[in-house]
Amino acid sequence: MIVKPKGTYDLYGVDEKIYSYITNIVDDYMINYNYDKIRTPIFEDSELFHRGVGETSDIVTKETYDFQDRSGRSVTLRPEGTAGVVRSFIENKMYGNRSDAIKLYYNGTMYRYERPQAGRFRELTQIGIEAFNSDSVMIDAEVISIGYNILRELGLEAVVKLNTLGDTESRLNYKKALVEYLKPHIDSLCEDCRNRLEKNPLRILDCKVDADSEVLKNVPKIQDYLNDESKKRFTDLKNALMGMGVEFVVDPKIVRGLDYYDHDVWEYELVDGSLALGAGGRYNGLVESLGGPSVPAVGFAFGVDRLIALVKNKVKDQTLEKNIDVFIMSVNEEENIYALKISQELRLNNISCEINSANLSFKGQFKQADKLGAKQLIILNSEDLAKGLVNVKDNQTKEEKKVDESEIVDYISGII
Ligand code: AMP
Repeated sequence: MIVKPKGTYDLYGVDEKIYSYITNIVDDYMINYNYDKIRTPIFEDSELFHRGVGETSDIVTKETYDFQDRSGRSVTLRPEGTAGVVRSFIENKMYGNRSDAIKLYYNGTMYRYERPQAGRFRELTQIGIEAFNSDSVMIDAEVISIGYNILRELGLEAVVKLNTLGDTESRLNYKKALVEYLKPHIDSLCEDCRNRLEKNPLRILDCKVDADSEVLKNVPKIQDYLNDESKKRFTDLKNALMGMGVEFVVDPKIVRGLDYYDHDVWEYELVDGSLALGAGGRYNGLVESLGGPSVPAVGFAFGVDRLIALVKNKVKDQTLEKNIDVFIMSVNEEENIYALKISQELRLNNISCEINSANLSFKGQFKQADKLGAKQLIILNSEDLAKGLVNVKDNQTKEEKKVDESEIVDYISGII
């Protein structure tokens, strides 16, 4: 038997329904917030991720699916969504002559060669948003609140863990102080941290291995290295979030694994701290570093795979139950032909229905109709059909009525 690749899963049945439930909520939200959907390729030129996500991030150094296509081009399955959206933004010159915010969102599968475990897959689905062309704190507050509101809407008690990395000047000063502080202690930290010291010292702050070490507990704090502008920006953002009722805690450990963030960075977590649900930040330098103009941007992504199991426990059963409008019952060839004809008319008129497509017995069809939650039954029989009539039975009240076959669509539309 051929089995699915390690770290992947099949989505069907109730879990698929939950997935669609989540994505429908997001699609509705995005209309309310005026974001347009974007779809970009699942594979891209490998260089995009090396330049876009950063040579020192774990995602690129350890986790990408890289391969050569049949013409020898080096391509990579996207490990995250931002780089592809930014590439598309630049390539299609979406910035044009615009001075408004350009607001996009995506929903797609990402690929990371990680060690599979609970909630961690090699093929994962992320929903993310990217808002370009505005450096206003208003858009940061809007973006952060979208993720927060969606998680709440899904019934999850989420909190935003927020930090700032400041502007370039503040961050450089902080990095310098951090490296100076860490250097004498570096031998006591893990191998990954030792490698990060020169390449990406901020990453040491969110190291899981050394999290409880005295060295990391006493590191200098970014807050002490922010210039006035960066300080004001962070205060404005916190005030905006408080005004919107978005719950957050400032957590200096949030630095994000990727190289391209500046100013605010954040993660969404379950209130009990048990699970990371999503993460984002402002990345004002990324568009330019990928060959575009200097365009500021802010965005986040959250993992859908983890949400499925959590949301399953929260949604009401009705959301998942099948609820078709009509079941058409037929037992012989002549009735079957009529069943198909009527089903065609109903379905084309936006009335959901099911037919006896598996040759069930009369009794079996009643059971099937109940299983599908059918509101009405159309019970065909040759005698009535000869007179141009069909029987319609209300599956709740059990009342029956003979209806002219040519008027069946209008009749059903009027009672469901
Ligand atoms: P990241 O793109 O690494 O910032 O991750 C954003 C969110 O995607 C995380 O908070 C997780 O919810 C989700 N995520 C990241 N990696 C995986 C994975 N391997 N499997 C499932 N979900 C993931």
